[in-house]
Amino acid sequence: MSLIVQKFGGTSVADSDRIRQVAEHIARTKRHGNQVVVVVSAMGKSTDDLIRLADQVSKTQPGREMDMLLTSGERISMALLCMALADLGLACASFTGSQAGIITNTDHTRAKIIEVKGDRLREALSANAVPVVAGFQGVSTSKDVTTLGRGGSDTTAVALAAALGADCCEIYTDVSGVFNADPRLVPSAKKLDKVSFEEMLEIAATGGRVLALRSVEYARNHRVDLHVRSSFTWEPGTWVVREDSKVEQAIVSAVTHDTSQAKITVSRVPDKPGIAARLFRGLADRSINVDMIEQNTSVSGHTDISFTVPKGDFPLAFQVANELSGEIEASDVVADEAIGMVSLVGAGMKTHPAIAAQMFETLANEKINIEMISTSSIRISCVVAESDVERAVQSLHASFSLSG
Ligand code: ADP
Ligand code: ASP
Ligand code: MG
Repeated sequence: MSLIVQKFGGTSVADSDRIRQVAEHIARTKRHGNQVVVVVSAMGKSTDDLIRLADQVSKTQPGREMDMLLTSGERISMALLCMALADLGLACASFTGSQAGIITNTDHTRAKIIEVKGDRLREALSANAVPVVAGFQGVSTSKDVTTLGRGGSDTTAVALAAALGADCCEIYTDVSGVFNADPRLVPSAKKLDKVSFEEMLEIAATGGRVLALRSVEYARNHRVDLHVRSSFTWEPGTWVVREDSKVEQAIVSAVTHDTSQAKITVSRVPDKPGIAARLFRGLADRSINVDMIEQNTSVSGHTDISFTVPKGDFPLAFQVANELSGEIEASDVVADEAIGMVSLVGAGMKTHPAIAAQMFETLANEKINIEMISTSSIRISCVVAESDVERAVQSLHASFSLSG
């Protein structure tokens, strides 16, 4: 008998019909002789709706209250799914993150899991019941409800799979696996049967939101086998596997894009030691996640520093940069929220220096201006105007012959 954690994303439980279909799939998995632990997301786009509601009510939005609000979405799905399971005659019980024993730090709206107790889930399993856990949430060391950041239900599922020693963690979503580009932007994108953790980390980090980045890190660190698949067709999807398990090393394995960031430029700062240190210390002290950083060549002793941050962190980052502008002697702080990042990911790129040239040539042929560039051994990312992102992804996908 296998123990399987099954996570169902927002679209998978978007309405009553979908909830009943999910319940039937869980019943089928049980009938095949498996034990199942279920993790659910909030229905459809209801987390976005709750955030919009908060925006209408308040500019302050204390993190503790935001988490209290957002965790309610997943509670609705877990209770409804349990009712659908009960209709099918399955013993089951719903659990909030707190009841499941998911203990986090106190960093509201982006808490990190520090321990998973899972006692009540084990009790339910030994009574042959299906535990249904609200994703994306836990309880802090100060006993407050917390959330794990957007897409955090994936992390809940992986953390439970690790804590309960599950045989695998299945992530059910609205596409049939991990593709070599977002299938919504590139209809000819190819589904990958296997992807290495190394590549999946880069895909998730550069906008391929099919798996939350932290869930991939957690799965790699705790050796959880991940299977991303469709809750619409139920066909086999993509396995995320360890690097040593003979993944075909494509030179370029995926093109990804991310429009969730904004760019800030502090212009004409003195080109001397300590300026970047002061700026990025100020941002770090406010827990702002900086992604890409670029500093221009110095012209007459001055330089520009540009960096990108998640749009959610942008207002605070802009404020901090403005507060520090006097101290770091910047002549101006300029914001650009209409940017996007396009990336090529592939383990084979390490040994193929011509890939970067081909990427830049492809964008040049499309008359797309590159605003920033960053590279790792298996990734090249370019910041472009948000309005160019779709064309950039499609032209790169074609240029590197990635169609299925
Ligand atoms: P869920 O609600 O199930 O968690 P998400 O919306 O978080 O679903 O993630 C699934 C979406 O990720 C897909 O609908 C797809 O548009 C998008 N996506 C982006 N990049 C990729 C990719 N490389 N492969 C598959 N899906 C991708
Ligand atoms: N409902 C949360 C979100 O929309 C968590 C999740 O779906 O994974 O981000
Ligand atoms: Mg998701």
